[in-house]
Amino acid sequence: MRIVLLGAPGSGKGTQGKILAAHLGIPKLSTGDALRAAVAAGTELGKKAGPCMAAGKLVPDELVYGIVEERLAQPDAHRGFILDGFPRNVAQAQVLDSMLARLNETPLDRAVHLHVEDEEIIKRLHERAVQEGRHDDQPDVIRHRIEVYNEETHPLLDYYEAQGKLATVEGVGTVEEIMQRVLKVVA
Ligand code: AMP
Repeated sequence: MRIVLLGAPGSGKGTQGKILAAHLGIPKLSTGDALRAAVAAGTELGKKAGPCMAAGKLVPDELVYGIVEERLAQPDAHRGFILDGFPRNVAQAQVLDSMLARLNETPLDRAVHLHVEDEEIIKRLHERAVQEGRHDDQPDVIRHRIEVYNEETHPLLDYYEAQGKLATVEGVGTVEEIMQRVLKVVA
């Protein structure tokens, strides 16, 4: 299965992606995790990406393509993969489609959208700010990340709907309940 997870920040992509990856026995790639690791390690990539991330903006597309292509070219991704946080805009989705073709991989199977209302998202991100201390989970930045999601990432729902790949799942409930809904649409 080749799956992309879509949803606002805090919609549960990381949590559900991790469980789904273990369940299906395929790797998961989170571009956000990879970028945070690059920032922590102080690499060139991290230095370029850090300020955009701290401001709640998307990093330039070119910075994430290398991360994704490198991971998808690994042998274990050949059986399938889950992408969490990529693509984030239509340009990235188009590049992903052509990247898979270039790597001789079959196209994506499903785009799973975890739907959570804005108010619940804001509540969750505030809680995460306290629990995890993520720099981009501060009030102003949270607001901006939601705007960026609505403007740049939300249009991807139409992109995948047009390809007949979109499945929307209600992202509210227990982790287990949501997981069952996700499993149903990827079965
Ligand atoms: P996330 O953990 O997915 O919420 O990502 C945290 C931050 O990393 C985002 O707010 C962006 O600054 C950056 N980021 C993650 N994935 C991407 C992507 N595919 N394109 C651009 N920026 C990204």
